[in-house]
Amino acid sequence: MPDFAEPLARLITEFKRLPGIGQKSAQRLAFHVLRASREDAEHLATAVLDVKDKLGLCRTCNNIADSELCQYCRDTNRDPKIVCVVEEPHNIIGIEVTRQFSGIYHVLHGSLSYLLQDEHGQVHPAHSISAGLDYPGVGPEHSYLKDSGRATYVAVTDRDALEGFRLLSRLEGIIPALETAHAVSWIAAQKGRWAKNEAVLLCVSGRGDKDVAQVSEMNILET
Ligand SMILES: [Zn+2]
Repeated sequence: MPDFAEPLARLITEFKRLPGIGQKSAQRLAFHVLRASREDAEHLATAVLDVKDKLGLCRTCNNIADSELCQYCRDTNRDPKIVCVVEEPHNIIGIEVTRQFSGIYHVLHGSLSYLLQDEHGQVHPAHSISAGLDYPGVGPEHSYLKDSGRATYVAVTDRDALEGFRLLSRLEGIIPALETAHAVSWIAAQKGRWAKNEAVLLCVSGRGDKDVAQVSEMNILET
């Protein structure tokens, strides 16, 4: 990093702490402030402090508010019996621009869910042959099922999933989506787990048409 005068270096460092701002952007912003009038710099500093000093959380819905109640909870034209639960305050903006929702909100400020993580708690990159499974997190339904002990989660390799894809296509004439093919493969591998007269329910979600080209390129259908 170039040897800037201390106050300028400090401002650059502070800008760099903002999300999406690298060294060059931070320098550009810092030099902009340096060239700006003292009045403009004061407006910026005051605006930054005001969001810390003058905003709090709405008493009713936890949205960002400049008084006890946020603008939506103050609005008497809204129906308080209809509640939309959102993860973060900025999620409200996307709903409000549609002008289709006339209820109120409840803001969770984050959500608690299982995700792939490394030993430092950082999100671990995911891999799956199936685009629908290539994501490091799961939704609240699966988290609940795991915690309540109602579901067991197992892993299936890409190779086995492709075998499941081939198996259901050949035996039943049903082309499963690659997501479902994982379950087909796992069930097929559980020889002896269930008696002959026991029913096993497999949810075949989606359609495999979308995955045929991908699987065909892998040249496994003829094996
Ligand atoms: Zn509110």
